[in-house]
Amino acid sequence: MIACPNCQISFSPQQRVCPRCKSYEPPLEDRMEYLERMAQESLNDGNSPGFVEASLVREGIAPKAAQEIVIAQSQKVRRAARGRGLRRIAVGLVFLSFAAGLVLGGGLIFAEFGSKLLLRSGLLLLFLAVPLFLRALYNFARGRD
Ligand SMILES: [Zn+2]
Repeated sequence: MIACPNCQISFSPQQRVCPRCKSYEPPLEDRMEYLERMAQESLNDGNSPGFVEASLVREGIAPKAAQEIVIAQSQKVRRAARGRGLRRIAVGLVFLSFAAGLVLGGGLIFAEFGSKLLLRSGLLLLFLAVPLFLRALYNFARGRD
C-alpha cells in the first residue's frame, strides 16, 4: 500500500496516482515490487516480452529499465517452468518403471499360470505413460510448461 501525503489515505500500488486527489504520484520505487510482480504474472500468462515491456513503459518505467525487468522476470518464469518440468519427468519415470514392472511381472505370471490380467494392465499403463513422459521431456527441453 502507498500513503498519500495530501489526503492521508492508503491506496494500492496498482494506481499511478492517488485515487482521491489525483495529484499525488508515488515514486516509482514504491510501485516497483507491484510492477515486477505484474510483469512476471503477465509473462506467466503467455504474453510476449514485447507486450509486457510496453505495458511497463505505459506505467511510467523507462524503456531500458522495462527491458531489464522483462529479462529478469522471464528468467524467473523459465526457471519455475523448468522446476515443474523436472518434477513431471521424475513422476513420469516412476510411473514408467511401475508399468514396466507390471509388464515384466505380468509376463512371468502369465508364463507360469496363464493369467493375462497383470500383463494387460501393465501394457495399458505403459501405453498411457509413454506419450505423457515424452511430452514432459519435450516441454522440458523447450523450457515450457
Ligand atoms: Zn491524495
